[in-house]
Parts: sequence; C-alpha cells; structure tokens
Amino acid sequence: MMLVPLKYPSKLGQRALELRRNIACLSALSETHQILQKTIRDFADHELAPKAAKFDREHLYPVEEVKKMGQLGLMAIDVPQKYGGSGLDTLAYAIAMEEISRGCASAGLIMSGHNSLYLGPILAFGNEKQKKEYIEPYTTGEKIGFFAVSEPGSGSDVGALTTTAILKGDRYILNGTKAWISNGLEGEMGVLLAKTSKDLKHEGLSAFIVSKDIKGLTVGKKDDKLGIRGTSTCQLIFEDYEIPKENLLGKESYGFEIAMKSLDSGRIGIAGQAIGIAQASLELAVDYSKTRIAFGKPISQFQIVQQKIADMAIRVETARLLTWRAAWLKDNDKSFSKEAAMAKLAASETATFCSHQAIQILGAMGFVTEMAAERHYRDARITEIYEGTSEIQKLLIGHCVFKELSA
Ligand SMILES: Cc1cc2nc3c(=O)[nH]c(=O)nc-3n(C[C@H](O)[C@H](O)[C@H](O)COP(=O)(O)OP(=O)(O)OC[C@H]3O[C@@H](n4cnc5c(N)ncnc54)[C@H](O)[C@@H]3O)c2cc1C
Repeated sequence: MMLVPLKYPSKLGQRALELRRNIACLSALSETHQILQKTIRDFADHELAPKAAKFDREHLYPVEEVKKMGQLGLMAIDVPQKYGGSGLDTLAYAIAMEEISRGCASAGLIMSGHNSLYLGPILAFGNEKQKKEYIEPYTTGEKIGFFAVSEPGSGSDVGALTTTAILKGDRYILNGTKAWISNGLEGEMGVLLAKTSKDLKHEGLSAFIVSKDIKGLTVGKKDDKLGIRGTSTCQLIFEDYEIPKENLLGKESYGFEIAMKSLDSGRIGIAGQAIGIAQASLELAVDYSKTRIAFGKPISQFQIVQQKIADMAIRVETARLLTWRAAWLKDNDKSFSKEAAMAKLAASETATFCSHQAIQILGAMGFVTEMAAERHYRDARITEIYEGTSEIQKLLIGHCVFKELSA
C-alpha cells in the first residue's frame, strides 16, 4: 500500500502535523534512554525505596544516596561534559526524575532543585568564569546548590519580593529574608533573586550567585513539613551580606527572566517527580489488590477496583506523554513554556489522584505508615504548590493559548 502524504493547507493544520510528528518521535525511547531508565530504576529499587520511609520518618537528608546519584551522573545530568556533567538531554532528565522519585520523592526534589534551579540558570546565563567556578565542583553530588526566590511575604507574586541588593563600589550589599528554600540547609551555593531597583516590580529584579560561607547570612530552622520530609526547607536571612559584583548572574534587571526561564525547565523535573509518585502508587495498588482477599476472592477481581486502576494508569500515561513532549520540545530548541506548565499541572494532579486512589484500594493498610501509600499521598501534595501553584500554571497556559489562537 502506498502512503499518500496528507496536506495541511492552514496554519493550524501545519501546527497539528508538527505536533503529531513530535508525538511520533516519543512513541519509542532511544536505546540510551532505555538503558538510563533501567539503570536508575534498579538503583532506586535497591538504594532508595527501601530507605525512603526512614528518611521520611526521621526527617533525614539522604547524604550517601545523593552522592551515589552523583556517581551515576544524575546531579548534573544535562550539563555538558566540558563542565563535568553527563551531557544528556532534557528527556533523560525527565526519565531520571521519574525513576528516582518512584523510589523516593525527597531524593527527586534534591535532584531537581540542584539540576534545574541551581546549575540550570548558571549554565544558561552565567559567563565562562562562573560556569567553571560554580558548576564544575557541583556535578558530583558532594556539593549541593539551592534557588532562593520566595520570601515570607511573596511566593506566586515574584515581583513583590523585598530583598534588596544595593551596589556599593565593586560589591552588592544584600538585605532580606528568603523562605521555603529547598536544599537550604545542605546547599553551599545558590542562585538568588533580589531587587536592584527598589521602586520597580519585575523589572527591578536581578539574579545573583550566593555562597553560604559569607558573614551576614543566618540559616533559619528546618521547616517541619507534610511531605518530602527527607529534604530540608528553611529560611535564609541576609543582613548586610556582601558579594563581589562579579556574582551578578546575567545583567542587572534580568532576574525575572532568568527565574521564569529556569522555572520553565524546572517544571519538567517536577512533572517527572509527580509521575514517579503516581507510578509508585499505581504499582503498590496493583500488588496489594492481587493479594488482599475479600468476599472470597482477591479484590483485584472486583470491577470497581479494576476501574480505579484503569483511571490511574490512563492519567499516569497521559502525564508522562505531556512531560516527555515538553522535554522533547526543549531538546529541539522549540518553545516549551506552555507545554512544561501543562505537564507539571497534569502530572501533579495525577500524583494527588493516584496516591488518593491507592489509599482507597489499600483500605486501612493505606492509612498507616507500614505501607508507602500514605507517604506517597503526603509527598504528592507539594507538587501542586512549588515551582508555581496549579492556579499559576493555569494562568500561564491560558495566556499562551489566547496568544497562539489570536495570532
Ligand atoms: C516544600 C517547599 C519547598 C519549596 N522550595 C522552594 C525553593 O527552593 N525556592 C523558592 O524560592 N521557593 C520554594 N518554595 C516556595 C514555593 O515556590 C511557593 O510556596 C509557591 O510559589 C507559592 O507561593 P506561596 O506559598 O507564597 O503562596 P501564595 O502565592 O501566597 O498563594 C496562595 C494561594 O493563592 C493562589 N494565587 C496566588 N496568586 C494567584 C493568582 N494570580 N490567581 C489565582 N490564584 C492565585 C495560589 O495559587 C495559592 O493557591 C517551596 C515551598 C515549599 C512548601
């Protein structure tokens, strides 16, 4: 049979064809991606999943496991090899984030915060000297970075932050408090947003590379959280904290753009984290349903249970495709803001849905800490909040859709 190429005369038709091609490219993973997926799955099954409950219960940061993730090349996964990274692509990052988070969502956050929000902005906006100095030593998992934007008085409204960075001679003087900073306790260096023009909102923001090892910085107490309890989250308080002006990242007043571009990439990582939590919930529910007997047979044989499993599986697969597509777009230098926001929104809602359903399928066993279902439920919740809440993702997606369809 001869295939006749379809003709798409309209602009919208061409876009549809392009999207179909994109999806076709994702129907099978390359050999490299498959090997990576299997290697990380084995690592997560043996090194993370058996310890995840302990990290959660004792609020422990997984020091040794993060170093092993570094040895696997996961702590600088898409950093070019010339800076000490693994030189892989964003799709590899999304796959790795899913597999790591399927084993332990806390390890997933440590990995994504470091990769997307510390290394990412320096790689994209730093000069050569900054890349050598602040990326190369941070590729092994021995040293961790953080990203400090949120404050006690500002989260979604980034332009309302009040930390200031005032240039005096050849140094910036920083004053203000950053809140909810992941890797804030263990991290040695970070990327921070501050106002260099107090009277402006977004336009007055600049990004800086900051060290924890400088006088004038106090680390607040570790926040006691609902989920991802194997990570640290804390305040960082800057009082007359001085850094050389060479620590400015990019140009003055480009801070908002740097943060938003970094968050676009970060959302692909958080989508991967959420899919990992959802997949773990799905697998747990299937396993349990095959062994739990009620009314004389395994509960897996009840159609209502099967329907729940089907609903979970469809959502996981949908979220994964959206995430891989966003990664593919980024890897192919196409715009991906909207797609990353869609992936993050869908995946985080999927994680919440699947972990909720898993508890239902496990019944009382889903409600106690002996089984992982309740931890997945708690871990899932944050994926709808950080790196832009679900409401902010919807604003972003809506804005992009109106723009596209009005062009
Ligand atoms: C565990 C954890 C780790 C974190 N890690 C980091 C980190 O490493 N670095 C960092 O900088 N920050 C971090 N954060 C902060 C996180 O990014 C913010 O919590 C998030 O951006 C939301 O901000 P907020 O909590 O101030 O909520 P708010 O912005 O106060 O929002 C409250 C509610 O109002 C809604 N809302 C706000 N504006 C709008 C609008 N325009 N339209 C509709 N609804 C709106 C929100 O969606 C939300 O439901 C972390 C937070 C947590 C809990």
